[in-house]
Amino acid sequence: MIANKARFRAARRLERAAGFRLPDHAFSGAFLESVERAINFEGLDRRTREQLLAFFRDFMDCRCRDAPFCGCPERKFVLTIIEFREMGLDHRQISGHLLDEYGIDLYPADILSFLEDSVHMLEAIRDVAELQGREELAENAIEHIKKIEH
Ligand SMILES: [Zn+2]
Repeated sequence: MIANKARFRAARRLERAAGFRLPDHAFSGAFLESVERAINFEGLDRRTREQLLAFFRDFMDCRCRDAPFCGCPERKFVLTIIEFREMGLDHRQISGHLLDEYGIDLYPADILSFLEDSVHMLEAIRDVAELQGREELAENAIEHIKKIEH
């Protein structure tokens, strides 16, 4: 899963500010659990703090009882990548944007193969929907395929 490949670039810096070890996998439970506390660490530079805040705001804004272990952060992250692509960014631009906005490192090649997998998934959904006569779903899938491939 693509979210498992996302790393937080400032993880080491964050560790020094926090004084304990932190996984650099951005979507691991331990990291997610630390983010909220990490935002308040003294000695954290402004840029890193802003990136953590953006991460918190965009991926961890859910009210599930078992948050952040509910799967929402990973789902929101995946949707964000698809949205960036549908807005017209290519895999390199998406990678750059994730780093700027959230301080997340994700290789362009991983993003590209994720987008290709997504298209294959949508094609499978389209085919099954057409077989079952669910036209709206099929059209929806076709629309997303077009936006991702353009
Ligand atoms: Zn949730």
